[in-house]
Amino acid sequence: MNLKIGVIKGDGIGPEIVTEAMKILDKTADKYGHTIEYTKLLMGGASIDVHGVPLTDETVDAAKSCDAVLMGSIGGDAKTSPWYKLEPSKRPEAGLLKIRKELNLFANLRPAVLYDELRGACPLKEEITEGGFDMMIMRELTGGLYFGERKTVEENGVLTAYDSLTYNENEIRRIAKRGFAIAMKRRKKVTSVDKANVLDSSRLWRKVVEEVAAEYPEVTLEHMLVDNCAMQLVKNPKQFDVILTENMFGDILSDEASMVTGSIGMLASASLNETKFGLYEPSGGSAPDIAGQGIANPIATILSAAMMLRYSFDLDKEAEAVEAAVAKVLADGYRTGDIMSEGKEKVGTVEMGDLIAAYI
Ligand code: NAD
Repeated sequence: MNLKIGVIKGDGIGPEIVTEAMKILDKTADKYGHTIEYTKLLMGGASIDVHGVPLTDETVDAAKSCDAVLMGSIGGDAKTSPWYKLEPSKRPEAGLLKIRKELNLFANLRPAVLYDELRGACPLKEEITEGGFDMMIMRELTGGLYFGERKTVEENGVLTAYDSLTYNENEIRRIAKRGFAIAMKRRKKVTSVDKANVLDSSRLWRKVVEEVAAEYPEVTLEHMLVDNCAMQLVKNPKQFDVILTENMFGDILSDEASMVTGSIGMLASASLNETKFGLYEPSGGSAPDIAGQGIANPIATILSAAMMLRYSFDLDKEAEAVEAAVAKVLADGYRTGDIMSEGKEKVGTVEMGDLIAAYI
């Protein structure tokens, strides 16, 4: 298969960690008989330096012509970087918002995986985390409270603010379909999270999710209220496979789930649209404090590349090979500084990439 991949190396540690992820993609392609065509794309601060704007229309078109995009993080130190002297619409993060909108990326996927070897970094009790856990938070990204009408008005001399939470059945159906399709590639369980005891939008969410579930008889569906889900994530995270939820609930729950895994350098993510296209990036930022030092953890970006193989190219075997190589390197005791613990061997960004590539 020929994989057309757009690459946004980004700012700060972005170029370092993306280079390692490309190394892993190249090794995997080599091993399994695929070819990769990379298209270099500029976004964020790197684009401002060249074009004066964080994302040009030409770059958006070039991204659209690819099958998927791999991205490092963008942005700099807000206190010292000249990029933050520009008006907000010209700053690095504006590029991120524009590309998500232009590519219609409505589904955000954030895996929260606790590797048994990294249990020490998890703030939960040992008896809860024994054996690790592996869940996928699927968050609707373009609807709900963050995109509804809002206003602040004075009513009878009292300031009153309104935010509206709106979902239509089509928006719910498309993300539910994506969630069930992803569950089919995993342990075949969907936990749909809502607040159906209070909100109309949640009652519609539940109804549509049940309709979609009927098309996936192999997948077990359960409904959970969001307040209970917040508790269950710290009480029994092993029960979850795919958590499917709307925008604001997903915003909060995905941060909670990722923090119980302990390390930002391990957190992959993907944003998908209605086609197979996806934007794959680590959950963390551009870490300007450690940029250029060769010490950033490339694993989140490498695991994002594995998600790309699985979800944009349906190369499940290849994705598993990458994930297994990461697990093996961790089991062998190699660690970057952010996940270092006593008795382990500390390695830099490039060495971590080399070790993982060697295990593919
Ligand atoms: P950050 O995630 O960049 O850094 C927080 C801490 O985590 C830092 O100490 C950093 O060194 C560490 N860290 C992050 N990734 C790491 C890795 N791979 N290996 C080792 N350590 C790692 O968050 P921040 O400092 O709040 O933001 C820095 C910049 O990143 C800002 O400009 C922000 O806007 C941007 N940002 C971009 C994205 C994105 O591109 N999607 C996301 C979040 C933040």
